[in-house]
Amino acid sequence: MRSLSAGALLNRRGEAGYDLALATISAILALTVFYVDTYTNIESAIAVLYVIVLLLCSEILTRRGLVVAASLCAALAIGSYIHTHLLHPELQPFLRLVVSMAALTITTILLLRNEAFRGATLSTNAALRDSEMRYRSIFNRTRVALWERDYSRARTYLLELKSKGVVDLKQYFREHADAVDYCIGLVTTVASNDAAYELLGDIATDRSSGSMRRFIAPGDKTFIDLMEAIFEGRDHFEGKGTVTAESGESKLVLLSIGFPEDPAAFNRVIVGMIDITQREQTQTTLLEARAELTRASRAAVVGAMSASLAHELNQPLGAIVVNSQTLLRWLDRDPPDLGAVRRTVDRLIRDSERARLIIQNTRSLLTQADCKMEWIDLTKLVEETRALMEHDLQRDFVMVDVSEQNEIPKVRAVRIELQQVLINLMTNSIQAMAAEQSFPRKLTISLGSNADGDAVIAVQDNGPGITEQAAPRLFSPFYTTKVSGMGMGLSICKSTLEARGGQLIGYNHPDRGAIFEITIPIEAPHV
Ligand code: ADP
Repeated sequence: MRSLSAGALLNRRGEAGYDLALATISAILALTVFYVDTYTNIESAIAVLYVIVLLLCSEILTRRGLVVAASLCAALAIGSYIHTHLLHPELQPFLRLVVSMAALTITTILLLRNEAFRGATLSTNAALRDSEMRYRSIFNRTRVALWERDYSRARTYLLELKSKGVVDLKQYFREHADAVDYCIGLVTTVASNDAAYELLGDIATDRSSGSMRRFIAPGDKTFIDLMEAIFEGRDHFEGKGTVTAESGESKLVLLSIGFPEDPAAFNRVIVGMIDITQREQTQTTLLEARAELTRASRAAVVGAMSASLAHELNQPLGAIVVNSQTLLRWLDRDPPDLGAVRRTVDRLIRDSERARLIIQNTRSLLTQADCKMEWIDLTKLVEETRALMEHDLQRDFVMVDVSEQNEIPKVRAVRIELQQVLINLMTNSIQAMAAEQSFPRKLTISLGSNADGDAVIAVQDNGPGITEQAAPRLFSPFYTTKVSGMGMGLSICKSTLEARGGQLIGYNHPDRGAIFEITIPIEAPHV
């Protein structure tokens, strides 16, 4: 059996002096009760007062100590009864002893339960404290800029708008210009870490209401997107935006927020920011270089084609001029020599036909440039092309929506050709929309298939649409309405697609904007 050391009985929570004083008072009280119970003639259950002893010393005793103290008190009460009443047993004193024992037992059980509950609460609190410390240390030391922000008031405001019938928050913000600023004013910063300070300087730690106004760059739409995420009850938000640091430097950041399930926890939402300025600059330079290369190669192709056309056409065109002059001479004769006129016209037709064939050949030469046929996943191709165009899209604030109407089968085609066609169509749409000051600028790329099972890609914009004058000449080479246009894009696209058995048509949407529809046969003819 283990011996009962003081350590096993005493609960070392308080100060040693206080514990000793309480133990002494409890012992004196126990002895006093014993004395009064044994040596005086008070006819009542004095032993019940041992309960006070237990209550007093419960604070400094462990569970085991409490059981020992209760046993000692019970022993004292029984000892007192034996000493006083054993020779003359009576019912009344015996009943008083029973009542005292019952009181001691119940008090001990309650104190033991209380002790167990207190132990559990203490360990829960300790675990909570540990967890909070761990969280604080991660929050402070991580290299990601973190904030704890109070979005609860903004959330309440947004939900109020919803209950008043607002469905499209962005539209509401467009119509109520001051509402965004009001929302910014409702958000406060609760805490921020060192990385946040390094990113934005002093303003990162500003706890005042609306402090975010100081670093949200004018015109940045990310805050509105964030409010929309809260408005729609989404569980997280990710976005890219521009912030202005204390130094005035503009930085591009990636924003990430996970919203809590419990609405009450919106007063401490963690917001993470990563500075991607450098990365984005490298990416932009890369994309610009790639776009420059594409432009250069397009210009080179057009240049080569023009040179080849000029060279090849020189001869038939010269012949046409000479034959036309001859024709005029035959016509000027009196009477005109109709037989000679007919022969000359025949020569004119022959030369014109040659010129047409030369143009056709040059075009087909163009489309033969890279003939590696492969199975192409159109959804992927559209995504890749969209990524290539990201810079142009962002520069002109164009949103892209890709939709798939049904299962798109893979097509057999030349990847670079299809991509070039998509780039041309998207570039035309972006330029058409950018020529006007109307927003939002939306480019919709829909993937589907037609009744014959051919794949169809429609590129639709909400720009001014194809003008009446442009419509009949859209696909004619060198037709352009742009100051710096070459007028070759659509013409090359059309011949490229047609050479593979596909099609390109362009028309206007009944409401607004132009639609260019590419049709690609699932299995291209052998070329
Ligand atoms: P370029 O772009 O060099 O002018 P294109 O062959 O690509 O040559 O286009 C020819 C013309 O077709 C353009 O100048 C323009 O007038 C018209 N066009 C092409 N795409 C669109 C569009 N999405 N919306 C309105 N007009 C368009």
